[in-house]
Amino acid sequence: MNKSLSESKDQPHPGVDVHAFTYNALPSRVLFGVNQLDRLSDEMTRLGGQRALVVCTARRRAEGEAIVSRLGRAGVGLFAGALTHVPIEVAREARTYARHVGADCIIAIGGGSTIGLGKAIALESESSVLAIPTTYSGSEMTPIYGITEMGLKKTGVDSRVLPKTVLYDPLLTLGLPIAISVSSGINAIAHAAEGLYSRDANPITMLMAEEGIRALVGSLPIIYRDSGNVTARTHALYGAWLCGTVLGQCGMSLHHKLCHTLGGSFGLPHAETHTVILPHALAYNHQHALPAMQRMSRTMHGERPPSFLHTFAAANGAPTSLRQLGFQEADIERAADIALANPYWSPRPLDRAAIVRLLRRAFEGVPPEID
Ligand code: NAD
Repeated sequence: MNKSLSESKDQPHPGVDVHAFTYNALPSRVLFGVNQLDRLSDEMTRLGGQRALVVCTARRRAEGEAIVSRLGRAGVGLFAGALTHVPIEVAREARTYARHVGADCIIAIGGGSTIGLGKAIALESESSVLAIPTTYSGSEMTPIYGITEMGLKKTGVDSRVLPKTVLYDPLLTLGLPIAISVSSGINAIAHAAEGLYSRDANPITMLMAEEGIRALVGSLPIIYRDSGNVTARTHALYGAWLCGTVLGQCGMSLHHKLCHTLGGSFGLPHAETHTVILPHALAYNHQHALPAMQRMSRTMHGERPPSFLHTFAAANGAPTSLRQLGFQEADIERAADIALANPYWSPRPLDRAAIVRLLRRAFEGVPPEID
C-alpha cells in the first residue's frame, strides 16, 4: 500500500480525515443477537402493530408459518410468494391480501427479495415493516425499494419503506447455503467499499464500512469451512448490518451501477454478480480513491482490495467470472452502454473503453487490473 498515506506524521488520526460533514441517521430500531426472535411479539406491540402479515419466499414457507404461529392471534396471515426483484404482479397480490386480512404490520423474514416485497406493501399502505433478515444483502437498513414491471426494475427512495424495527438473529442464518452465504457476504462488502469513496461518506459511515468489511472478511472463510459456526454467523450478520447501514446512508457508484445493469437487463443473479464485479470495479477506481482503498486494505492484511477480493472469492468457493453466471460475451458492449446511459457518480470519470475492458476481464474471470 502507499506508505505516504498510512504513515504520515502530520496526521493526528492516521487514515481518518475528520472534516466538516453531515451525518444523516436513519430511524430504525435494531435488535441483534442469538435468540432475538423471542422478542418478536413484544417488538411488534412496541411498533403499535396488532395484526401482522408475514411475508417470505415459497421455499421458506415453513419458517413463515412458524412466525405466524409464534405471534398467536396477532399473526393474521402468511404470504409465501416473494420473488426476486419484486415483480409488480406479486406486489399487487400481496397488497390485496394485506388489505384483506386487515394487516397493520408487515413482518418480512428472508433475504432482500422478501424484504423488498415487504417494502412494496408498505409503500401503498399505513403498515410498518418489521424485518428479520436471513441473508447479508442489507436491504433492511435502507429506504430504497425496487419493483419490476414489464421487465424493467424501477427503484425509488421513500422513508415509509424503511423497516422500523430490524431483528437480526444469527440462528436464522445457519441454514443459508454456503455458496449464498459467501456471495451475499461479498455483496455486503460491496456496499461498504463503495460507501468508503462515496460523496456522502463521513467519518461515521467510514467507521461502519471498515468495521463491516473486517467482520465479513474474518467470518466468511470460517462459514465456508463450517457453515454452522454460530460465532462466525454472528460476526457475518453484524458486518452485514454495518454494511447495509452504509448502503442506506451513502450513494453508490460504478460497481452498483454495473451490477444493477447486469441483474436488471441480463437477468444475472444479484449477490453472485456483485461478487464477480467488485474486484474489477475497485480496480477501475483504485487510483482515484486511494484513502478508501487504504482503509479497506487495513481489513485485508495490507493487500490491495481488488486482488485480495478476487482471491478471497475464489478461495471461498464463490464465482469469479460472468461467464460462470451465464453472461454472453456478445453482450459486453451493450452492458457498457446501458450502464453509461444513466450513470452514477464515480471517483474516476467514466470511460467507455475502460469499462468494456473491465467487463471483459470480469467475463473471463482473470485477476483485476489497476489502470
Ligand atoms: P434473496 O432474498 O433472493 O435470497 C437468496 C436465496 O436465499 C433465496 O432462494 C432465499 O429463499 C434463500 N434464503 C434466504 N434466507 C435463507 C436462509 N436463512 N436459509 C436458507 N435459504 C435462505 O437474495 P438477496 O441477495 O438477499 O437479495 C437480493 C434482492 O434484494 C435483489 O432483488 C436486490 O436488488 C435486493 N436488494 C435491495 C436492497 C435495497 O436497499 N433495496 C439492498 C440489497 C439487495
